[in-house]
Amino acid sequence: MSAPILNERDMTFMLYELFDSEALIERERYQDHDRQTFNAVIDTAKAIAEKHFLPIRQKLDTHQPTFDGQKITLIPELKPAIDAVNESGISSATADYELDGMQLPPIIASAAGAYLTIAGGVGLGYNMLTNANANLLQAHGSDELIDQWVKPMRSGRFMGTMAMTEPGSGSGLGDLTTKAIKAEDDSYRITGNKIFISGGDHNLCENIVHLVLARVQGAPKGVKGISLFVVPKFLINDDGSIGESNEVALAGLFHKMGGRAQTSTALSFGEKNGSIGYLVGEENCGLKYMFHMMNEARIMVGTSGALLGVAGFQYSLDYAKNRPQGRLPSCKDPLSPMVNIIEHADVRRMLLAQKTYSEGALALVLYGTQLSDDEKTAPTPEAQQHAHLLLDFLTPIIKTWPSEFGTKANDLAIQVLGGHGYINEHPVELFYRDNRLNALHEGTTGIQSLDLLTRKVPMNKMAGYLATIAEINTTIEQASAYANLQEYSAKLHEAVAKLQQTTDAVLTAMATKNIDLALANSVKYLELFGHVIIAWLWLKQGIVATKALEKQPHQDDESFYHGKLQALKYFYHIELPQIYSWATLLINNDSSSFDMKTDWF
Ligand SMILES: Cc1cc2nc3c(=O)[nH]c(=O)nc-3n(C[C@H](O)[C@H](O)[C@H](O)COP(=O)(O)OP(=O)(O)OC[C@H]3O[C@@H](n4cnc5c(N)ncnc54)[C@H](O)[C@@H]3O)c2cc1C
Repeated sequence: MSAPILNERDMTFMLYELFDSEALIERERYQDHDRQTFNAVIDTAKAIAEKHFLPIRQKLDTHQPTFDGQKITLIPELKPAIDAVNESGISSATADYELDGMQLPPIIASAAGAYLTIAGGVGLGYNMLTNANANLLQAHGSDELIDQWVKPMRSGRFMGTMAMTEPGSGSGLGDLTTKAIKAEDDSYRITGNKIFISGGDHNLCENIVHLVLARVQGAPKGVKGISLFVVPKFLINDDGSIGESNEVALAGLFHKMGGRAQTSTALSFGEKNGSIGYLVGEENCGLKYMFHMMNEARIMVGTSGALLGVAGFQYSLDYAKNRPQGRLPSCKDPLSPMVNIIEHADVRRMLLAQKTYSEGALALVLYGTQLSDDEKTAPTPEAQQHAHLLLDFLTPIIKTWPSEFGTKANDLAIQVLGGHGYINEHPVELFYRDNRLNALHEGTTGIQSLDLLTRKVPMNKMAGYLATIAEINTTIEQASAYANLQEYSAKLHEAVAKLQQTTDAVLTAMATKNIDLALANSVKYLELFGHVIIAWLWLKQGIVATKALEKQPHQDDESFYHGKLQALKYFYHIELPQIYSWATLLINNDSSSFDMKTDWF
């Protein structure tokens, strides 16, 4: 069965109708581009996805990387696929011209990457991590570091990682123990062990540039004593050629439920004399720099969550249109033909839920991606500052909601296929397994919810929170001008009022009661806020669809826009009301989980 990789009509809707990406060409940075160049990059990505990645998607899953104690073996088809991406320039498409980039708007690069992500799973993760690593160094590294490491990463000669996690330090990075000792030549000697490092070793390029968090001797305890270092797998000679090994040893590979195309490594640094590390920026500011990469990675993780949701929805929709099974309850004639399962209301329920989760999540991650561009290229400093405020505030939701609800969408895709969804003849079980990681890495859902409540909501006198509410209120007002949207406009107004009441109650509890108890239901707060955000983005889509229908579009387009309005209805009738039970729990500071004693389990 060959379902399309993604719904191209929907991607066009998101890019050019919902977010008006074409207007970006008025910005100086993008003046060489137009809609045709945007679409050319997207088409190139689609062609590479279809030619190189789609045919090996299943093999990447069933043939995990292996390590024989000497070298890693990956399936041979992966390197040409990754080379094709590098040669097309797509992996560093957003970078400056001077660094071999295309200066493409991130939202367009994200649309191009969507094809590759869906077709190749995490096969593309090598390139994405490399790009994020290079972006961090470009923002915080010295000219020398940029020259030595960023340029070869942009060209695909080298690849990059982020090396934070240790066996004893996962969510709590403040406890990491990897050591850095300053040498006479101002470089450092790094010793320690890291685990779960994605792309930490492989044979896809000449060298691997690890960005390692470590503690300089005598540094303060906790997160204030963490520094960031470039630690390459191989040192490089003065002429740029590959030099000696830098004592970065592969201690082993992890075998995973999904995301198998990307190596997950345990790395040991500097077992003999210490690996040579080059400090990025200043000592003890490492976590601040790493947040540059983590924030970018969090949008990437949310995007992966959304896209895998889209992929499962697309596949199960195609399946449901073609799988005959059973008859409607109203049909009593056993000789009548079977209906395709899409005729069953319960199957349509599961498809609609997937549509609202995945297209809602896609709208959210593209919005976040656009904010990450606006904070640098919006026409005025005020607009840049505003975008920064919104993005900073929304990052935990952009990372988490698509990860959680994209995976729920994948769960429903399996259900739509019945038993056929559980076997690997169809990719929906693979989408689910791949997606399951997204709620775990780059800060688990629990950690993101604590970040939202303890840092992001109170930050700058609640400026990010208030700016977000103001954006939502603007849409509520706009939607109330359309008769068919007034119901939703009123419902969202009510939901925002409940969100505000809940926020006040939780902040008051945090300030006046046992803070551990006050934060006990933080994940429900993130879900509540996430549902309000997604309801908002569905209302925005509803406005676009309503306006388009007023123009009497072509028949195919008419169905597309009716589909958007029906999904809007589903989200407001079935999903949004759940926030009221979550709000009650939060407002009452429910202690069911908090009070449970370890011995009672
Ligand atoms: C496939 C994969 C790829 C990865 N890639 C990378 C990578 O490239 N680089 C890298 O550095 N790391 C990477 N990681 C590591 C990943 O970021 C961590 O696994 C993650 O941050 C969680 O840490 P942990 O596994 O130690 O779990 P723990 O921190 O032990 O958490 C276990 C559970 O306890 C909860 N918990 C922990 N602390 C708290 C708290 N304070 N309050 C409330 N709940 C809490 C968590 O939410 C979670 O549910 C990867 C992991 C995987 C599985």
